Amino acid sequence: MAFDVAAIRAQFPILDPAAHGRPLHYLDNGATAQMPQAVLDAVIRHETRHRANVKRSVHFLAEAATEAYDQARDAMAAYVNAAGADEIVFTSGCTAAINLVAHSFGALLKPGDEVVFSTLEHHSNIVPWHMLAKRAGVVVKAIPVTAEGRLDLAALPKVIGPRCKLVAVTHVSNVTGAETDVAALVAAARAVGAKVLLDGAQRAPHGPIDVAALGVDFYAFSGHKMFGPNGIGVLWGRGELLARMPPFLGGGEMITRVTLEETSFAEPPRRFEAGTPPIAQAVGMAAAARWIESVDQEAAHAHLQKLTARLLDGLDGMKKVRVIGPTGLQARFPVVSFAVEGAHPHDICQMLDEDGVALRGGHHCAQPLMAAFGVTGTTRASLALYNDAGDIDALLAGLDRTIRRLTA
Ligand code: PMP
Repeated sequence: MAFDVAAIRAQFPILDPAAHGRPLHYLDNGATAQMPQAVLDAVIRHETRHRANVKRSVHFLAEAATEAYDQARDAMAAYVNAAGADEIVFTSGCTAAINLVAHSFGALLKPGDEVVFSTLEHHSNIVPWHMLAKRAGVVVKAIPVTAEGRLDLAALPKVIGPRCKLVAVTHVSNVTGAETDVAALVAAARAVGAKVLLDGAQRAPHGPIDVAALGVDFYAFSGHKMFGPNGIGVLWGRGELLARMPPFLGGGEMITRVTLEETSFAEPPRRFEAGTPPIAQAVGMAAAARWIESVDQEAAHAHLQKLTARLLDGLDGMKKVRVIGPTGLQARFPVVSFAVEGAHPHDICQMLDEDGVALRGGHHCAQPLMAAFGVTGTTRASLALYNDAGDIDALLAGLDRTIRRLTA
């Protein structure tokens, strides 16, 4: 079936240039993706018909809100193929989900135990482990990257040793689009009895995830990068593992009993959701998951591969441009970073903005990876399924002009 990108685009009100009085080629989806009408409608419907707090009051609005929240959890469980909805913890985002693991799983670790991440990570999958190391005497180690910007699998036996308790790695790089070889990682972790966390922030927009097939233990992602609202994210965790973890935040609705002396905690996922959760946001994230599921996945994938090839081909023909990361289409998602000799990424982004091309320039919260590549920053185009050939051509034409202006 042909992929009808015009029909997809029409579902995103913000992509209409008339809304801005100027062209818009939105290629900053790795930072935040836009919301389709179906998601906007789901949020508005919830806020205008079912808004109330959840799990507290017995009036009909509270019951409707609770049901909507529970259904959102069911939808997210289906999206990642969880064993049950109780394995889905709603958080404020991917960062909060990883921090939750760093605190609650981290509380089970002893001084000298090791946590392994990689040079590819977003800071949100590095800093919480540095903080844990300070707090608990846990030792952190990093898997190095190859010249192409992929995990150096040859280094796994050296880095993942007998004291390793957790391997926490990105599923897809937010800088290079490289997809992690999860099977190799899981095998290396299992060989020493370590658990595996995948940061799925950049993978989640590209179709349902099968955590059972991946064989991992935790999976973290954000709503706003998968066509949903911000302020919401998911931590999926294996049921038996969540059950062993103490809570991170304390407060309302995560207890079974509180006396003046002590608290006993509810079962997961409530144990990890202290206070009023982001309810409409959860409803919106679930609507986004259903919207993604409604799209022909194979056709969407082929469409994005074609656009990525068009972009890589165009960049390949430009003098002074160096692609940072894989230059082929194998095991990659539609995120492409590049450096331009003699031009700063911020200047490139600013000049392309004049053409309506929205990009991101800088270190992308991945300073260790920038250091590994010997750059301080890159310019990044990150694509979503509503992008079309016109967006890529606008980027390439604008970049060509910009390079001539900046490096003349
Ligand atoms: N991990 C990766 C790979 C990301 O790209 C991002 C967002 N740029 C995050 C984690 C953090 O996500 P959030 O800011 O939504 O918590």
